Order: sequence, then C-alpha cells, then structure tokens
Amino acid sequence: MSFESLGLTPALLRALADNAYTTPTPIQAEAIPLVLAGHDVLGGAQTGTGKTAAFGLPLLQRLADSSKPAAGPRKPRALILVPTRELAVQVADSLRGYSKYIRLNVTTIFGGAGMGPQVDNLRRGVDILVATPGRLIDHMQQGSAKLDGIEVLILDEADRMLDMGFLPAIKRILARVPADRQTLLFSATFEAQIKQLALEFMRDPRQVQVATQNTIAATIQHRAHPVDGSRKRDLLIDILTARHTEQVLIFGKTKHGCNRLAEQLEAAGLPALAIHGNKSQAARQKALNAFKSGKARILVATDVAARGLDIPNLPLVINHDLPMVAEDYVHRIGRTGRNGAQGEALSLVSPDEAPLLRQIQRLLKSDIALEAVEGFEPSRPIRLDGNAPGAARPGGQRAGGERPGGRRPPRKPGNRAHGRPADRGAHAHAHTGQKQGGQRGQGQAQGRGGDRRA
Ligand code: AMP
Repeated sequence: MSFESLGLTPALLRALADNAYTTPTPIQAEAIPLVLAGHDVLGGAQTGTGKTAAFGLPLLQRLADSSKPAAGPRKPRALILVPTRELAVQVADSLRGYSKYIRLNVTTIFGGAGMGPQVDNLRRGVDILVATPGRLIDHMQQGSAKLDGIEVLILDEADRMLDMGFLPAIKRILARVPADRQTLLFSATFEAQIKQLALEFMRDPRQVQVATQNTIAATIQHRAHPVDGSRKRDLLIDILTARHTEQVLIFGKTKHGCNRLAEQLEAAGLPALAIHGNKSQAARQKALNAFKSGKARILVATDVAARGLDIPNLPLVINHDLPMVAEDYVHRIGRTGRNGAQGEALSLVSPDEAPLLRQIQRLLKSDIALEAVEGFEPSRPIRLDGNAPGAARPGGQRAGGERPGGRRPPRKPGNRAHGRPADRGAHAHAHTGQKQGGQRGQGQAQGRGGDRRA
C-alpha cells in the first residue's frame, strides 16, 4: 500500500516524502479513498493513528483540484472544529506541512488569544479554518467568520468536544454551514450523542474504524501503583529520580494541583513545567515546545491542556491522579506508545480512587495490574471488588484479559506484572503484589465534570 495508490496528487506526494511518510497508516488507507470519492466519513480513531493526514490529505486535494472563487478575499472553504487550542495549532501545522507545494491558506482561531489578529487573518482571506467552537461562535456573532462558503466540515475529536460542553456551539455552527457540504467526523469513542450527531448532520456516512473502541494500544505497558494520597508526591519523586533520563508526561487533576506539583518537583531537584487552561496561550505553547524539543524533561498537565499533544517517542506517562472520566484514561496513556514505539503508563492510585479505577477497568473490559511499590504500600487496600466485568482481583493481574479466569500465579516481590521493553533502564523499585481482601460489592458510578475541566 502506497500513498500513490490512494490517488493522491504529485504535490501532496512530494510533501509526504519530505515528511518521511512512506506508508499510509490504517486509518489513512481506509479513509483517504472514501473522502476523495466525496463520501461523508465517520472515523473511529484516536490521536496518534495518523488521522490528521487521513482527513487532511484528501481535503487539500479536493480544495486544490476545484476552482477557487475568482476575486476578493477568500471565505473559508473548509472548517475543522477541534476541542483545544493545542490541537488547533497541531492540526494547522500538519496541514501546512502537507500543503507546502499547494497554495492554500490555513488559519487558526481559538480562545485565550486576542480577537484582533484573528479578525485580521480572516479578513486577509482563508481557505482552511481550524477553530475551537466557542471562539468561532464569537467570530460568527461579530461577522468576522463567514461560513457560507464551507464545502467540507470536519469535526476532530468529536467525543472530546462534546465532553467539554461544546454540543450547543457545534449545533449552532452546523446550522450555518451549507447543507450540501461534505462532513467528516473523527472520534476515539462513539457514545450515543456522537451517533445522534452523525445521524442528524451527516449524509449516509461511511464508517471507518481503526482500533477497537476504548482499547489500549498493544505497544503500551500500563499498570497501577496503590499508594496513599498523602504519599503520592514522594512516590512520584522516587520514580522520576530512579528513571532520570526519560521524558515524562504527568497528568494531574486540577489546574492548581498541576502548578503545585510542578513546584514541588522543582523543589526536589526535578525541573518540571505545567500546562493547563489557566495559562496564557503563549505560556502553554512555550512549555509545549520546550517539552517537544526535549529541553524540558517533565511536563505536568491537566486533561484538557494535554489534548492533542503529539510528542514523538514519549516513553512514559504517569497519572498522578486518575481521571474523573474513564475515557480520559485511554486518551492520556495514548500519548505514549505511538506509531509502533513502545510506551509505558503508570497510575498512582489511592484507596479513595478505587471507584475510578473500577470504572476504567469496566470501560477497558480488562484489568489493570496493581503493584504496590515497596515502602509505599497504602494504609488501606484498594477495593476493586465491584461486580463489573473485568474488575481486578487481588494479587494483581495483567490488563488485556488474556489469562482465562483472570487469576495469575503468585508473584515474588520484585517481579513485574508486565514485561518492560527491553531497551528501558532498570527501575530501582521493587514491586510487591498488593495484598488485600477481594470481596465483591457494587461498582460505584462516578459523576462527570467536577474539577477535571482545565
Ligand atoms: P495524528 O494521529 O494525526 O496526530 O498523527 C500522529 C503522528 O503520526 C504525527 O506525528 C504524524 O506526523 C505522524 N504520521 C501520520 N501519518 C504518518 C505516516 N503515514 N507515516 C509516518 N508518520 C505519520
């Protein structure tokens, strides 16, 4: 399978060669021909699968092929809606890279940055507009964004946009784009609301699914360390000190918590940057660039700020706190193990977070290995005794459900539930299987929202 065989033009093929893309990823192989043929496409794909090029390449080809309006400032012909500023910047950067031999303008608009420069850019003429829904509504209201020339509408990370409360904004935007457009919707998960959106606003969409929903890539080794909440910071410092060469993305729950954690790590001699929704766009981008370029080793982020982060070769993700919404676990740890590379994800889980861990296991339909770290054993056991399918049983099991019956042979202290990639340095910690009771009780549902928004 080659990009040529998918029917892409020489100008795009040249740009792909410059980017060292030799083979289409599965989502690209499936989606590109459908999009080129003009179909609406409903794509099930997570970040890291190459979905930006899956919609971006045929989009660029379509816009380059068809004739542009003759004169006057150009109104956007394609609109890409994304949940966060970071993803907007990333998608626009990718599209600019793919379109370097095609004369098309890509412009971003997102909140947290001044309206003025965005208005100027829109006035100068735009072919492809990449926007977060809230800020786009602002521009629509003041007349700076005109959507009546939209030929292709793309909803990227649609599940995330709904999760962030953008549904009303999306519906308002959908009402303003021409009905005879092509619509592409990409989402890592397909909850009922997404299906409803697709039914209402798409024409006979073709479905393309690359990874099973809510599954963890086979390249990611993930496990959880039970620990008291009050000792999480010390355990984290211990892990970061033991693995001092690796770049690490750490997820925290709140903006404030992320700031404090970054400060505490700094005080412990582990320089760390924090990104979250309270930081200015410039500060977020600066931190992100420092991390991406490898200048910063440790980045502490909230879910929303970390959305869309594409860091090649990120070896390790640590959840200092479990996410409030189980789907975020999939997104968070999907920041590692991308493009076939090996990755590792560790979650520090306090006894209070047992219901969240249960929820994640229920979503994944598999267990996450629980391994206490010597010296950090929690004062209370993590009670994973929900009656959900896949709830972890005592002793620690591996995720993935490959072991019929779920029970693994007792492990000696120091053994790991998961093999680690052979090229990783030795970890200084000894792990002990968590010893705890295993009564089963009712799994507890968790509310959405709370302080997880950033
Ligand atoms: P995405 O899922 O769009 O965020 O892409 C994830 C990463 O894969 C990005 O760094 C892309 O540049 C890269 N990528 C996408 N398609 C390919 C390809 N066919 N070959 C190599 N790298 C790719």
